[in-house]
Amino acid sequence: MGPSDLHLHSVHSDGTESASDVIAAAHSAGLRTVALTDHDTTSGWAEAAEAAASLGMTFLPGMELSARDEWRSVHLLAYLCDPDDVGLRAETERIRADRIGRAERIVRSIGRDYPLTWPDVVAQTGEGATVGRPHIADALVARGIVATRTEAFDTILHPRAGYYEGHYAPDVATAVALIVAAGGVPIVAHPSPSGRARMMSPALIERLIGIGLAGFELDHRENTEEGKRTLRRVAERHDLIVTGSSDYHGAGKPNLPGENTTSDEMVSRIIAQGTGIAPVYA
Ligand code: AMP
Ligand code: ZN
Ligand code: FE
Ligand code: FE
Repeated sequence: MGPSDLHLHSVHSDGTESASDVIAAAHSAGLRTVALTDHDTTSGWAEAAEAAASLGMTFLPGMELSARDEWRSVHLLAYLCDPDDVGLRAETERIRADRIGRAERIVRSIGRDYPLTWPDVVAQTGEGATVGRPHIADALVARGIVATRTEAFDTILHPRAGYYEGHYAPDVATAVALIVAAGGVPIVAHPSPSGRARMMSPALIERLIGIGLAGFELDHRENTEEGKRTLRRVAERHDLIVTGSSDYHGAGKPNLPGENTTSDEMVSRIIAQGTGIAPVYA
């Protein structure tokens, strides 16, 4: 089934390529099992599944659900959720709607200091896509205010610059429960970033495992080595799933498909545990 990369973004959120182009890029990188995990939406699944099937690949429907632990933003990879689950749908609709108002407020605030308008951002955002700071970054690039997305994140979009605002997201315990209730498999994305965001507390992690947290995305370029060691021990103690993935965003980030992969054993465990929707086999 492998090599497997279970964390890829398309224009349905903040990736720069269509869902089928993302799958084609993964195929060219030698991958044979993939998941599309756009932020807070399932809208890319049909196109990605068809592209994967036509290339002889296995496709796992996925999503990266926004959650929070107090002020800290936590991302949960949710595999094989029922896309029609009422609770999960209502929550993702609420997050996506709030992301629009939040992006407008950030743009209004930036617009006091730089020539940036809301239509600039709309022009960078796919129809119906989940809006995020990357689209604001692309608008800043299009205006010639910065050279790249990464420069935008390091400067104007950095929380320290003073324009930052958060968006609505469910508490991480609520988010894990929602995914489980939708038949999905919840795995913490990039669980141990460096700097201020850091890791969730051990006590919270234990609580989430009790609610049904299935594992951690350990092999991801943003995790610290120390955090990986700690979480690997937690995973072993509780017999959890551990994954590795790229978090590919097309041209929007340097991450490349297949730069980290998930073992066949772990992919099988995700498939065995997910009951909301079946994978698509070629
Ligand atoms: P938001 O959820 O709107 O606050 O935006 C965060 C998203 O921006 C995440 O999905 C990241 O993958 C993406 N992101 C964060 N830092 C960067 C960066 N330096 N370059 C490109 N994308 C980034
Ligand atoms: Zn993203
Ligand atoms: Fe993320
Ligand atoms: Fe991601």
